[in-house]
Amino acid sequence: MSIMPIRIAIVGLGKIARDQHVPAIAATPGIELAAVASRNAALNGVAHFASLEELLAQAPDIDAIALCTPPQVRRAQAAAALAAGKHVLLEKPPGATVSEIAPLLAAAQNSGKTLFASWHSRFAPAVEPARAFLANRYIRSVAIAWKEDVRVWHPGQRWIFEAGGLGVFDPGINALSILTRILPQPFFLTKAELSFASNCAAPIAADLDFTDQGGTPIRAEFNFLQTGAQTWEIRVETDDGWLTLSAGGARLNYAGVELADAALAEYPALYQHFVDLVHRGVCDVDLAPLVHVADAFMLGRRLTVAAFEE
Ligand code: NAP
Repeated sequence: MSIMPIRIAIVGLGKIARDQHVPAIAATPGIELAAVASRNAALNGVAHFASLEELLAQAPDIDAIALCTPPQVRRAQAAAALAAGKHVLLEKPPGATVSEIAPLLAAAQNSGKTLFASWHSRFAPAVEPARAFLANRYIRSVAIAWKEDVRVWHPGQRWIFEAGGLGVFDPGINALSILTRILPQPFFLTKAELSFASNCAAPIAADLDFTDQGGTPIRAEFNFLQTGAQTWEIRVETDDGWLTLSAGGARLNYAGVELADAALAEYPALYQHFVDLVHRGVCDVDLAPLVHVADAFMLGRRLTVAAFEE
């Protein structure tokens, strides 16, 4: 007996929805794109609604909603979708605050629906091999460099520098989502310096010092004004040598082991996991990366730097 594919709707047809969600859904067995809700964008051949509310009112045959909108509007959309009996996939970060997620998780669990707070970088091909490699190793230090040019990767996305948009933590949280997956011990923030452009409510750069119970130094540098070579790299020093994840977790280097660059594989794997969660009737919500970002806002010394010009 064949199981009917999950009929999913994308809400917020912006950059990540077009670049990754649409092709990944098409490439994943067991799920199909049945509708789009977006105020200013539509897809040829796919049912279109101007808003999530309109979609929920007019399209009862949708099983699941992928929220690809900015984090500031996601909580209300997730609550509405869950109240309408839909499974919900949240793009990262799962919300604009940490505490807004608990009621969503409770609502999903109470109705037997899936809530998936997705972390796409955890599906990068180097992540699970790195986790397995580090599980039994002594770790001396960790250095993260996550430096990209916001003008190249987020043109015109003003929400990113508004309150709740996370600023440089929008990419930086991807590094934290990987690190919280691959390190065998939990870690915590000890010092942070956040640079705010004078016209932005979210930081444009961050220097973070973490440690763990054993005192391991863990340093992260996030920068949104990196021109020239772009860097998304995590280097872990072990007593057996250096392990390097580069290209956002697409590549792994240790003693000559090199995995091929396969960045596009993240989203098909993410959707396969979502299909699996729905069939099992469970949620997957890990807030650890978001908690580290909230800690940085609590502990961080704030510097004001030059205004950001698009
Ligand atoms: P984006 O290009 O700005 O797209 C978001 C879309 O959401 C917009 O096109 C807009 O579509 C809709 N939207 C914007 N503001 C809204 C509001 N106030 N109410 C309702 N809908 C609104 O942003 P994005 O880059 O795709 O990022 C979206 C999310 O995905 C973010 O959380 C980001 O961190 C995550 N993400 C992005 C990337 C990336 O490389 N860009 C990678 C991974 C994850 P309409 O105007 O048509 O409604």
